[in-house]
Amino acid sequence: MRIHVLASSSSGNAIVVEIAEHVFLIDAGISCACLEQRLVCCGLRPSALSAVFITHEHQDHVKGLDAFIRRYRIPVFSRPATWEHFPRTDRLPSECVREITESLHLEGIQIDSFSVSHDAADPVGYAFHGEDKTFVVATDFGVVTSTVENAIREADYLVLESNHDPEMLRTGRYPAFLKKRIAGEKGHLSNEDAGRLLAESCLGKPRQVFLAHLSQENNQITLAENCVRQFLQSSGYQLGRDVTLHRTFPNRISSLKTS
Ligand SMILES: [Zn+2]
Ligand SMILES: [Zn+2]
Repeated sequence: MRIHVLASSSSGNAIVVEIAEHVFLIDAGISCACLEQRLVCCGLRPSALSAVFITHEHQDHVKGLDAFIRRYRIPVFSRPATWEHFPRTDRLPSECVREITESLHLEGIQIDSFSVSHDAADPVGYAFHGEDKTFVVATDFGVVTSTVENAIREADYLVLESNHDPEMLRTGRYPAFLKKRIAGEKGHLSNEDAGRLLAESCLGKPRQVFLAHLSQENNQITLAENCVRQFLQSSGYQLGRDVTLHRTFPNRISSLKTS
Protein backbone atom coordinates (compact mmCIF):
# COMPACT_ATOMS: atom_id res chain seq x y z
CA MET A 1 0.00 0.00 0.00
CA ARG A 2 1.01 3.57 -0.55
CA ILE A 3 -0.80 6.44 1.13
CA HIS A 4 -0.56 10.07 0.06
CA VAL A 5 -2.36 12.75 2.06
CA LEU A 6 -2.50 15.34 -0.73
CA ALA A 7 -4.00 18.02 1.53
CA SER A 8 -5.45 18.02 5.02
CA SER A 9 -6.89 20.85 7.11
CA SER A 10 -10.21 22.49 7.84
CA SER A 11 -9.94 24.18 4.44
CA GLY A 12 -9.31 21.23 2.11
CA ASN A 13 -8.94 17.46 2.23
CA ALA A 14 -7.86 14.84 -0.30
CA ILE A 15 -6.22 11.47 0.34
CA VAL A 16 -4.96 8.81 -2.06
CA VAL A 17 -4.40 5.13 -1.34
CA GLU A 18 -2.68 2.77 -3.76
CA ILE A 19 -3.65 -0.86 -3.17
CA ALA A 20 -2.29 -3.51 -5.53
CA GLU A 21 -2.90 -2.08 -9.02
CA HIS A 22 -5.63 0.28 -7.86
CA VAL A 23 -5.62 3.93 -6.90
CA PHE A 24 -8.46 5.39 -4.85
CA LEU A 25 -9.08 9.03 -3.95
CA ILE A 26 -10.90 9.84 -0.73
CA ASP A 27 -12.44 13.33 -0.86
CA ALA A 28 -11.72 16.08 -3.38
CA GLY A 29 -11.68 19.19 -1.19
CA ILE A 30 -9.02 21.05 -3.18
CA SER A 31 -9.31 22.51 -6.68
CA CYS A 32 -9.19 20.27 -9.73
CA ALA A 33 -5.90 21.87 -10.83
CA CYS A 34 -4.38 21.27 -7.41
CA LEU A 35 -5.59 17.66 -7.37
CA GLU A 36 -4.03 17.07 -10.79
CA GLN A 37 -0.76 18.67 -9.79
CA ARG A 38 -0.43 16.74 -6.51
CA LEU A 39 -1.35 13.41 -8.12
CA VAL A 40 1.37 13.96 -10.71
CA CYS A 41 3.83 14.78 -7.89
CA CYS A 42 3.02 11.32 -6.47
CA GLY A 43 3.77 9.75 -9.86
CA LEU A 44 0.08 9.12 -10.57
CA ARG A 45 -1.98 9.95 -13.63
CA PRO A 46 -5.39 11.38 -12.64
CA SER A 47 -7.03 9.28 -15.36
CA ALA A 48 -5.62 6.12 -13.74
CA LEU A 49 -7.78 6.45 -10.61
CA SER A 50 -10.12 3.49 -10.05
CA ALA A 51 -12.72 5.38 -8.00
CA VAL A 52 -13.35 8.36 -5.74
CA PHE A 53 -15.03 8.10 -2.33
CA ILE A 54 -16.65 11.11 -0.67
CA THR A 55 -17.05 11.25 3.12
CA HIS A 56 -19.64 14.06 3.20
CA GLU A 57 -20.82 17.10 1.28
CA HIS A 58 -18.97 19.91 3.11
CA GLN A 59 -16.94 22.14 0.83
CA ASP A 60 -13.57 21.18 2.35
CA HIS A 61 -14.24 17.65 1.01
CA VAL A 62 -15.86 18.34 -2.37
CA LYS A 63 -14.46 21.64 -3.64
CA GLY A 64 -12.82 20.19 -6.77
CA LEU A 65 -15.09 17.20 -7.23
CA ASP A 66 -17.35 18.18 -10.11
CA ALA A 67 -14.59 19.66 -12.29
CA PHE A 68 -12.34 16.64 -11.65
CA ILE A 69 -15.05 14.06 -12.39
CA ARG A 70 -16.23 15.90 -15.52
CA ARG A 71 -12.67 15.88 -16.82
CA TYR A 72 -11.69 12.30 -15.97
CA ARG A 73 -15.07 10.44 -15.83
CA ILE A 74 -14.15 8.36 -12.78
CA PRO A 75 -16.85 6.63 -10.72
CA VAL A 76 -17.51 8.48 -7.47
CA PHE A 77 -19.18 6.84 -4.47
CA SER A 78 -21.04 8.35 -1.55
CA ARG A 79 -24.08 7.70 0.61
CA PRO A 80 -27.44 8.42 -1.11
CA ALA A 81 -28.28 11.28 1.31
CA THR A 82 -24.90 12.89 0.60
CA TRP A 83 -25.73 12.95 -3.11
CA GLU A 84 -29.10 14.52 -2.32
CA HIS A 85 -27.37 17.31 -0.41
CA PHE A 86 -24.43 17.83 -2.75
CA PRO A 87 -25.41 21.02 -4.57
CA ARG A 88 -23.73 20.17 -7.88
CA THR A 89 -24.80 16.55 -8.50
CA ASP A 90 -26.48 17.62 -11.76
CA ARG A 91 -23.09 18.84 -13.02
CA LEU A 92 -21.59 15.36 -12.68
CA PRO A 93 -21.81 12.82 -15.53
CA SER A 94 -24.70 10.63 -14.33
CA GLU A 95 -22.86 7.39 -15.14
CA CYS A 96 -20.15 8.37 -12.62
CA VAL A 97 -22.49 8.98 -9.66
CA ARG A 98 -22.57 5.80 -7.56
CA GLU A 99 -24.04 4.98 -4.17
CA ILE A 100 -22.44 3.11 -1.30
CA THR A 101 -24.61 2.07 1.62
CA GLU A 102 -22.32 -0.15 3.70
CA SER A 103 -19.69 -2.13 1.80
CA LEU A 104 -18.65 -2.85 -1.73
CA HIS A 105 -16.05 -4.94 -3.49
CA LEU A 106 -14.00 -3.50 -6.32
CA GLU A 107 -11.72 -5.98 -8.04
CA GLY A 108 -10.69 -7.89 -4.91
CA ILE A 109 -10.63 -4.92 -2.54
CA GLN A 110 -13.31 -4.52 0.09
CA ILE A 111 -14.34 -0.99 0.99
CA ASP A 112 -16.54 -0.36 4.04
CA SER A 113 -18.24 2.93 4.85
CA PHE A 114 -19.02 3.57 8.50
CA SER A 115 -21.17 6.33 10.00
CA VAL A 116 -19.67 9.18 12.00
CA SER A 117 -21.25 11.90 14.16
CA HIS A 118 -21.00 15.14 12.17
CA ASP A 119 -23.37 17.89 11.00
CA ALA A 120 -23.78 16.65 7.43
CA ALA A 121 -26.49 14.59 5.69
CA ASP A 122 -24.96 11.12 6.16
CA PRO A 123 -21.24 11.48 6.93
CA VAL A 124 -18.95 8.45 6.85
CA GLY A 125 -15.41 7.23 7.25
CA TYR A 126 -13.95 4.53 5.02
CA ALA A 127 -12.00 1.31 5.57
CA PHE A 128 -10.10 -0.25 2.65
CA HIS A 129 -9.11 -3.89 2.97
CA GLY A 130 -6.44 -5.20 0.59
CA GLU A 131 -2.94 -6.72 0.54
CA ASP A 132 -3.83 -8.26 3.98
CA LYS A 133 -3.90 -4.78 5.51
CA THR A 134 -6.55 -2.26 6.43
CA PHE A 135 -6.40 1.47 5.75
CA VAL A 136 -8.94 3.67 7.56
CA VAL A 137 -9.91 7.31 7.05
CA ALA A 138 -11.75 8.80 10.05
CA THR A 139 -12.16 12.57 10.08
CA ASP A 140 -14.99 15.01 10.79
CA PHE A 141 -16.69 13.65 13.89
CA GLY A 142 -17.52 15.23 17.24
CA VAL A 143 -17.78 12.13 19.42
CA VAL A 144 -16.26 8.69 19.30
CA THR A 145 -18.90 6.03 18.80
CA SER A 146 -18.43 2.27 19.09
CA THR A 147 -18.67 2.14 15.28
CA VAL A 148 -15.65 4.43 14.96
CA GLU A 149 -13.75 2.53 17.66
CA ASN A 150 -14.34 -0.78 15.89
CA ALA A 151 -13.14 0.65 12.58
CA ILE A 152 -9.98 2.03 14.17
CA ARG A 153 -9.17 -1.23 15.95
CA GLU A 154 -8.94 -2.90 12.55
CA ALA A 155 -6.62 -0.28 11.04
CA ASP A 156 -2.98 -0.91 10.21
CA TYR A 157 -2.80 2.53 8.61
CA LEU A 158 -5.01 5.34 9.80
CA VAL A 159 -5.81 8.94 8.89
CA LEU A 160 -7.35 10.32 12.09
CA GLU A 161 -8.76 13.76 12.80
CA SER A 162 -6.95 15.78 15.47
CA ASN A 163 -8.79 19.01 14.78
CA HIS A 164 -8.30 21.43 17.61
CA ASP A 165 -6.76 22.28 20.91
CA PRO A 166 -9.73 23.00 23.21
CA GLU A 167 -7.97 25.93 24.90
CA MET A 168 -7.05 27.57 21.58
CA LEU A 169 -10.62 27.10 20.42
CA ARG A 170 -12.06 28.52 23.66
CA THR A 171 -9.86 31.62 23.65
CA GLY A 172 -9.67 32.07 19.86
CA ARG A 173 -11.41 34.57 17.63
CA TYR A 174 -14.18 32.33 16.25
CA PRO A 175 -17.74 33.47 17.04
CA ALA A 176 -19.49 31.65 19.88
CA PHE A 177 -21.86 29.70 17.60
CA LEU A 178 -18.94 28.31 15.60
CA LYS A 179 -16.97 27.37 18.72
CA LYS A 180 -20.06 25.54 19.94
CA ARG A 181 -20.45 23.73 16.62
CA ILE A 182 -16.81 22.62 16.46
CA ALA A 183 -16.74 21.40 20.06
CA GLY A 184 -20.20 19.79 19.80
CA GLU A 185 -21.18 16.16 19.28
CA LYS A 186 -21.56 16.72 15.54
CA GLY A 187 -18.44 18.82 15.20
CA HIS A 188 -14.76 17.91 15.19
CA LEU A 189 -12.43 15.77 17.28
CA SER A 190 -10.03 17.53 19.67
CA ASN A 191 -6.39 16.55 20.15
CA GLU A 192 -7.29 15.04 23.54
CA ASP A 193 -10.11 12.96 22.06
CA ALA A 194 -7.81 11.72 19.29
CA GLY A 195 -5.13 10.77 21.84
CA ARG A 196 -7.61 8.99 24.08
CA LEU A 197 -9.14 7.12 21.13
CA LEU A 198 -5.73 5.90 19.95
CA ALA A 199 -4.67 4.92 23.47
CA GLU A 200 -7.83 2.85 23.87
CA SER A 201 -7.91 1.31 20.38
CA CYS A 202 -4.35 0.59 19.26
CA LEU A 203 -3.66 -2.66 21.09
CA GLY A 204 -2.26 -5.75 19.45
CA LYS A 205 -0.45 -4.60 16.33
CA PRO A 206 1.74 -1.73 15.16
CA ARG A 207 -0.04 1.24 13.58
CA GLN A 208 0.94 4.10 11.34
CA VAL A 209 -1.21 7.13 12.10
CA PHE A 210 -1.55 10.40 10.20
CA LEU A 211 -2.86 13.20 12.42
CA ALA A 212 -5.20 15.02 10.06
CA HIS A 213 -7.80 17.74 9.50
CA LEU A 214 -5.97 20.13 11.84
CA SER A 215 -7.61 23.51 12.22
CA GLN A 216 -5.30 26.25 10.97
CA GLU A 217 -6.96 28.62 13.42
CA ASN A 218 -7.28 26.48 16.55
CA ASN A 219 -4.39 24.03 16.47
CA GLN A 220 -0.67 23.55 15.85
CA ILE A 221 0.97 20.35 14.68
CA THR A 222 3.35 20.25 17.66
CA LEU A 223 0.45 20.67 20.11
CA ALA A 224 -1.47 17.84 18.44
CA GLU A 225 1.56 15.54 18.38
CA ASN A 226 2.54 16.24 21.99
CA CYS A 227 -0.99 15.70 23.23
CA VAL A 228 -1.47 12.41 21.35
CA ARG A 229 2.03 11.24 22.34
CA GLN A 230 1.27 11.84 26.03
CA PHE A 231 -1.92 9.77 25.90
CA LEU A 232 -0.10 6.93 24.13
CA GLN A 233 2.95 6.95 26.39
CA SER A 234 0.91 7.07 29.58
CA SER A 235 -0.95 3.97 28.35
CA GLY A 236 2.36 2.13 27.86
CA TYR A 237 2.78 2.46 24.09
CA GLN A 238 6.20 2.97 22.59
CA LEU A 239 6.21 5.61 19.88
CA GLY A 240 7.87 4.41 16.69
CA ARG A 241 7.31 0.78 17.63
CA ASP A 242 3.62 0.38 18.59
CA VAL A 243 2.37 3.59 17.01
CA THR A 244 4.15 5.82 14.51
CA LEU A 245 2.76 9.32 14.05
CA HIS A 246 2.87 11.17 10.73
CA ARG A 247 2.20 14.83 10.06
CA THR A 248 -0.20 16.17 7.43
CA PHE A 249 -0.24 19.62 5.85
CA PRO A 250 -2.74 22.00 4.22
CA ASN A 251 -0.48 22.68 1.23
CA ARG A 252 2.00 19.84 1.10
CA ILE A 253 1.84 16.11 0.42
CA SER A 254 2.54 13.60 3.18
CA SER A 255 3.32 10.11 1.87
CA LEU A 256 3.86 6.66 3.33
CA LYS A 257 5.03 3.63 1.41
CA THR A 258 4.14 0.59 3.44
CA SER A 259 5.43 -2.26 1.31
ZN1 LIG B 1 -17.35 18.45 7.64
ZN1 LIG C 1 -13.93 18.66 7.02
